Amino acid sequence: MKLALIGFGQAGGKIVDEFLAYDEAIDGGFVETAIAVNSATTDLHGLERIPKRNRVLIGQARVKGHGVGADNELGAEVTEEDISEVQGAIDRIPIHEIDAFLIVAGMGGGTGSGGAPVLATHLKRIYTQPVFGLGVLPATDEGGIYTLNAARSFQTFVREVDNLLVFDNEVWRDAGETVAGGYDRINKEIVERFGLLFAAGEVYHDDHVAESVVDSSEIINTLEGGVSTIGYARETVDNGDDGLLSTFRETETFDEGTATNRMTSLVRKATLGRLTLPCDVGSADRGLVVSTGPPEHLNRKGVERGRQWLEDETGSMEIRGGDYPRPDQNEVGAIVLLSGVTDVPRIDQLQQVAIEAQDTTEMVQARAEEDFTSLVDTGGEIDALF
Ligand code: GDP
Repeated sequence: MKLALIGFGQAGGKIVDEFLAYDEAIDGGFVETAIAVNSATTDLHGLERIPKRNRVLIGQARVKGHGVGADNELGAEVTEEDISEVQGAIDRIPIHEIDAFLIVAGMGGGTGSGGAPVLATHLKRIYTQPVFGLGVLPATDEGGIYTLNAARSFQTFVREVDNLLVFDNEVWRDAGETVAGGYDRINKEIVERFGLLFAAGEVYHDDHVAESVVDSSEIINTLEGGVSTIGYARETVDNGDDGLLSTFRETETFDEGTATNRMTSLVRKATLGRLTLPCDVGSADRGLVVSTGPPEHLNRKGVERGRQWLEDETGSMEIRGGDYPRPDQNEVGAIVLLSGVTDVPRIDQLQQVAIEAQDTTEMVQARAEEDFTSLVDTGGEIDALF
């Protein structure tokens, strides 16, 4: 499916940059336009692939290009004030060509955390295309303010978009990695999962895959509301490209049974392995299973079994399935999109920590005011000058 990608804030911009690289690498064709919005000039300069004229600086009058710190209320305010600057870039999107908007933001910071929900409200008011969010949750060691920001942004963003796809940094970080190195790796994981899903809805319906290929409307219908998470599993296969082997393969009958079992087990692995947002799979309302790889490995029976298994796991009757044929690959994979998930312990925990952080902040502020008063006040013994 064709997307207008809007990266809000530093994380959002970097991830959209990475989406562009991935789209080009797999010849996906799912990015129609890529835009970056930020209140920090240096972050916009640091981007590599988003065209310069699609980089929008907001809040210049208030923060002079220095960013909003981690103040997401300020992030929301400057976005509202400068929404016409953002609209200027959106006006260049060939709107009739896109299937949806995708706003990408780190939810723990200031600009993206506060601005992304404001932009979502704005886009929904103007356009008929669905507006999806891709929200990145902060790792638990980032501290109270990031957690509180994320909890507040989550609450607002999920209300304003048609669906919020979530990626949790906490689950994907590796011990012993530098922050920057970690983000580079994590961003690749993000774009691979979400990118494959969106690219799947962008395949031309040629003869041999016509009826089974995933359609963008199936992705949109699965993303009908609420919060989503993605699982992905893959396996290397022989795609018969090397000369000798392919000659041999002509006389070999393709082992359907192996392909069926492989596909079924990939769907299970994708669902039960590491999700972008861990959750109780049983709480999903809707699902979509996409099998990817060389067409001869996209075994109908395997996909169908995997789909049925997911129906049983979720108790949902709304599990869609389809293919994303990638002829030149030596990998077979399964992408599982779970949508409308409600049992998400990580969100409960984030909200709990946020409430504690909010209470502590209020207490510390009150005490600081008291302490300051007692520092200055002499009980009327000394008079101020004026
Ligand atoms: P903003 O520029 O004010 O919107 O804030 P940032 O985007 O810099 O940071 C917001 C949050 O995003 C941080 O708390 C991190 O959790 C996360 N983050 C920052 N940079 C990256 C990145 O490159 N990749 C990922 N996955 N997360 C990031």
